[in-house]
Amino acid sequence: MNDANDEPESTLIQYLVATVGCAMCGASYAAEDVKVLDHRGNAWIIILACPQCGTRGLVLAMVTNQGQPDRLGELSAAEMETFANMPPLDGNDVLDWHMFLRDYEGDLAGLLEADK
Ligand SMILES: [Zn+2]
Repeated sequence: MNDANDEPESTLIQYLVATVGCAMCGASYAAEDVKVLDHRGNAWIIILACPQCGTRGLVLAMVTNQGQPDRLGELSAAEMETFANMPPLDGNDVLDWHMFLRDYEGDLAGLLEADK
């Protein structure tokens, strides 16, 4: 199962831990609070679980050749409030994402732009 992708994964986790805080309570994340769900090429799907309030966030990140990943998963305050009232992510949510990304043929930047 293990392959040559460990390095970008650990770099990405370090970047998120250093730059992202919980959107609900502002707590900092530790490396163990960051879980990589999946990645397709340069696009990574990551779950952040707040060690303080337990809020979970989903981040889509693209690892570029410029050294630092671009974080594209920011939510507005209203979106955070909406998601805070939803049940936690479960296995079906993860599976939905996995299948969606498996079948998606555009690039991630285009996907996220189209959502705005
Ligand atoms: Zn929190």
